[in-house]
Amino acid sequence: MTFEALGLNTSIIKALTDAGYTAPTPVQQQAVPAAIAGKDLLVSSQTGSGKTAAFMLPSLHRLAAIEPAAAGKTPNQEMQASRARGERPRFKAAQPKMLVLTPTRELALQVTTNTDKYSVNLRRIKAVSILGGMPYPKQMQLLAKNPEILVATPGRLIDHMESGKIDFSQLEILVLDEADRMLDMGFIDDIEKIVEATPATRQTMLFSATLDGVVGNMARRITKEPQIIQIVSSANKHENITQRVHFVDDLSHKNRLLDHLLRDEALDQAVVFTATKRDADTIADRLNIAGFSAAALHGDMHQGARNRTLDSLRRGQVKILIATDVAARGIDVPTITHVFNYDLPKFPEDYVHRIGRTGRAGRNGLAISLVNHAEGMHVKRIERFTKQLIPVNVVEGYEPKKTGSAPRTSRPGGWKPGDNRGGAKPGQRSFSKPSGAPRREGVGGSSEGYKGPGFKANNPYNSDRPRRSYGDR
Ligand code: AMP
Repeated sequence: MTFEALGLNTSIIKALTDAGYTAPTPVQQQAVPAAIAGKDLLVSSQTGSGKTAAFMLPSLHRLAAIEPAAAGKTPNQEMQASRARGERPRFKAAQPKMLVLTPTRELALQVTTNTDKYSVNLRRIKAVSILGGMPYPKQMQLLAKNPEILVATPGRLIDHMESGKIDFSQLEILVLDEADRMLDMGFIDDIEKIVEATPATRQTMLFSATLDGVVGNMARRITKEPQIIQIVSSANKHENITQRVHFVDDLSHKNRLLDHLLRDEALDQAVVFTATKRDADTIADRLNIAGFSAAALHGDMHQGARNRTLDSLRRGQVKILIATDVAARGIDVPTITHVFNYDLPKFPEDYVHRIGRTGRAGRNGLAISLVNHAEGMHVKRIERFTKQLIPVNVVEGYEPKKTGSAPRTSRPGGWKPGDNRGGAKPGQRSFSKPSGAPRREGVGGSSEGYKGPGFKANNPYNSDRPRRSYGDR
């Protein structure tokens, strides 16, 4: 299957060839022709499946077909024209043709960057992101260009809508990216308000890891006779990512093991996930002192600092990123070879999102969870959710002293980015004892079950997951 066969215009195909894309991914094969035909779509596919191009390519194709005359003047041109007529220039609201809603700023920027890549030969089409944390004058400047495509987080968009800066009466295409995440994050009222402000004639495409429950209900309300596309690709199951659990006795053991694993020769770049922002900062400081080039990324940082950190990661200047869930969502850096769960995530879905930061663009990855003995049940919940057993590994010289939560499957030996062993298959679990003699160093008190400063059991908002009250503004 080729991109030509999907019916895309030649300018877009040239951009894809230049970007090194040779063939459409499964979600693109199904979504692109249906979307070009103007159908509403409900797509269950995950990040890493090529979903951004699946909605953006057909949208660009349709927007490129609109006559320039019909596109009208930009607010800037309008203001110049009224000045020339000797009138006092009046502000004119931006009238985008396409809106993409995303749960996080990072994902919005990622979508905009990819859009710029795909539309490089379509000079008339501009895409801008409207995000919380971006200075207001800068956003007004962007809106004044009357971009065809707006990519936004719901909270900030509502602000602009309510102050009359954006008019959706000309909107033709609405995309909800990672809709399940947006609902998890409490954006449902904002989304409903935004959808209500758009014309009923719009085309709607909703992408989500799941189409069940609340997401499914909303999806049915906002689409018309949608085509349902469900992709169960190997990327969804993360078969290209080797997963491991390492049991640790206490915090000191965890830190020593992390330092050791970060020295893996096969490691190019890594993301280390923590439960709290404070831990992310502390670990980043500690790793820098230990000689790693590390940086923290979390929701307390200003947008500018977050962007700079992500740029440094993309350029390879930062080798190890220490991040919280919300901040790291949507990070797409193909050179990330390793993901570490310093703390396990509260929700099994977050585990899937976290490990998906590696194994991008068809590569392989390694995901290692450092688990306290008391967290065995947590691992089981993740295994039930992913329907994969996660093998337990032991590193010689770093064996846990306790054997209560008995390592199940040991996969000794090194891992290379070329490995592609996936998770354990059922039946691989074996209750073997850890090998090697336990070392007696680092008897570090009773931090078993430690979850970082400020941890409150069963509090889903312990991380920087935005709550309805403050959203991602
Ligand atoms: P996404 O699922 O949109 O986050 O995309 C995951 C990664 O795959 C991104 O780095 C894209 O640039 C890349 N990608 C998307 N479609 C293709 C394709 N057809 N061929 C190669 N890479 C792709």
